[in-house]
Amino acid sequence: MDGIKGLLIDVDGTLCLGDSIIPGTAEIIEKIRLSEIPFLVLSNNSSMSSEEYLGKLHRLGFNLKREELLTATEATVFYLKEKYPDARVMPLGMSGFVGELIDGGINIVDDSLDVVLLAYDKTINFDKLNKAGHYIKQGSVFLATHPDMLCNSSDGYDIDIGAFIMILEKSTGVKATIIGKPEDTMARLSMKRLNLPAKDIAVIGDRLYTDIAFANKNKMQSVLVLSGEATVSDLKDSQVKPDYIIGSILDLDKVVKF
Ligand SMILES: [Mg+2]
Repeated sequence: MDGIKGLLIDVDGTLCLGDSIIPGTAEIIEKIRLSEIPFLVLSNNSSMSSEEYLGKLHRLGFNLKREELLTATEATVFYLKEKYPDARVMPLGMSGFVGELIDGGINIVDDSLDVVLLAYDKTINFDKLNKAGHYIKQGSVFLATHPDMLCNSSDGYDIDIGAFIMILEKSTGVKATIIGKPEDTMARLSMKRLNLPAKDIAVIGDRLYTDIAFANKNKMQSVLVLSGEATVSDLKDSQVKPDYIIGSILDLDKVVKF
């Protein structure tokens, strides 16, 4: 790969699988940090605050600094402040997620709202979905933090937010606006943080429809790792194609010099 000056590295499926680290990946992160190449670890996880997520990564063995992590939660605060600075927002999300919105100055309400914001909410139920659906149908903006259908867990995969987005879309006829990968908010934030144009950045991740689509949509280069969700047979059926494919991030030096 030519001219790579910055890296965006996915977490689940790339550095870890659920609550287990992929052996050797913490050492790769250290090696990248010692090189000239700046990087960000990027996660669509919106089930907790960025601080809580950083704590999880520390417990797994990654010696990351706060500024080296960019989450969908953080991107959501950025997006709301940029597009709807005065909006009254009803989040469907966990307490850490909601806490980060409040700390970011977002006006959180439970009624008379302008924005329905769907995050990864393990307490989601009929009443919450029904209320959200009513507001969306009445004209509230419908945002979702990320589009993933599944997330890695100790049982293999858990249901993620994607199916709940579909419930609300189907029942209201309104399409959600997605904030996390593959859309552009995290790309714009990443370019700002790395101070690099898209073409100089490579995205490393395990999912075609989030990580690789994110790179392609935002004109970045892409490296698919086969240590997570995507398999070689998925690649054959997919319209979304990566620039490079490696077995895992442990092989990154085969495609990027660092
Ligand atoms: Mg992943």
